[in-house]
Amino acid sequence: MAYLIVNAQVWDGENDERYPAEVLIEHNRITAVARGQGQIRRDGAEVIDGGGMTLMPGMVEGHCHLSFVGPARNQDLGEIPPEEHLLRTCRNASLILNHGFTSCYSAASAKLRLDVVVRQEIEDGHLAGPRYRAAGPEITVTGGLGDERKQHMNAESFGMIADGPDEIRRAVRLCCREGVDNVKINISGDEFVSYARAEVTSMTEVEVATAVEVAHEWNKRVAAHARAAASVKRAVRNHVDCIYHCDFADEEALDMLEAAKDRVIVGPAFGLVHNAVFEGEAVGMTREVVESMHLPRKLEATCRTYEQMRKRGMKVVIGGDYGFKITPMGQNARDIGHFVKFFGYSPAEALRCATSVGGELMGHKGELGVIKTGALADMLLVDGNPLVDQSVLVGPDRLAMIMKDGKLHRDPRGRRAERERIAAE
Ligand SMILES: [Zn+2]
Repeated sequence: MAYLIVNAQVWDGENDERYPAEVLIEHNRITAVARGQGQIRRDGAEVIDGGGMTLMPGMVEGHCHLSFVGPARNQDLGEIPPEEHLLRTCRNASLILNHGFTSCYSAASAKLRLDVVVRQEIEDGHLAGPRYRAAGPEITVTGGLGDERKQHMNAESFGMIADGPDEIRRAVRLCCREGVDNVKINISGDEFVSYARAEVTSMTEVEVATAVEVAHEWNKRVAAHARAAASVKRAVRNHVDCIYHCDFADEEALDMLEAAKDRVIVGPAFGLVHNAVFEGEAVGMTREVVESMHLPRKLEATCRTYEQMRKRGMKVVIGGDYGFKITPMGQNARDIGHFVKFFGYSPAEALRCATSVGGELMGHKGELGVIKTGALADMLLVDGNPLVDQSVLVGPDRLAMIMKDGKLHRDPRGRRAERERIAAE
């Protein structure tokens, strides 16, 4: 199957500007990109008229939780039986593809096999969903983020609790046995954990080192939850591949990250704190609750840290812990506008975080999240210019075409026919 997309303004995932160009897709790859018109022979390819819209790479969710199906509290996830949980996770997979995310990097699965099973179903062609790098649950220590048990009562959430190197080793091996692509560890606490707040470094040096050693031996990548400065340093020192949050990174932690910027990818996961601080009232999070959790202070810290990340040339991905009640799945692309508004990114820089940087996190550096000859054919046709207004990428309405791996998940010709039909009525 070959498609030729004509009459489009291409933003290619790398440049600062759009340009008029034609793009040829054969099978699942982009095989030609030619500026201007009429440079590519039309024979043999189905021609798609881009209608002057923006053709850009499919977006990459860099901190995705497909199995977070709208809980208000972490332990709500533990109370969902596996059968319902799997179905709801499948729905999220289709939803996020409909919102223009053709790739997702999981930052943890709420139950051990949910991510793995959904990824396989997508890869086998039975379920519409993004390219997916599956994770296991968040490996955490007793009392850390993800341990919702009480002394008198068991409770599950998204955590897998392991203490000491032996248990950590076993937990990582268990995730590997069940088929994850990446392992998640929680090195620091979080505001949402009253007993281990964000600036507590809960996982010890030897526990982190053990998790990374085992995961790397099994050719898995490691992602870490790390808010406290000490936890960021611990992650960098022990060769964690992807370090999330880093809100309270001090000068030394930032220097260490910068020195490792070729091998480390970071992500703020900003959506959750943003929504809690600015939109929490809508879900019953009063101002007092938000203040008592020190969330405004954390938001400030995150903004200062990511201004620095940008200046220091760190590779940063979008993805904001969408999937909680306060951060409904589907709002994910709001992060792009947040990078511009809160961290000082230019629109093109923020869009690169959502495309080409994400492609590298997915393990396809230079061939995913970009539009160029040889790249994987994941693309969107957007009715609007995201270099001017990033909100056009939020929600499915402005996405005229969604192509994943050379296949049309949404065909723009259907949208045009629908519009003509409505206009004629
Ligand atoms: Zn997360």
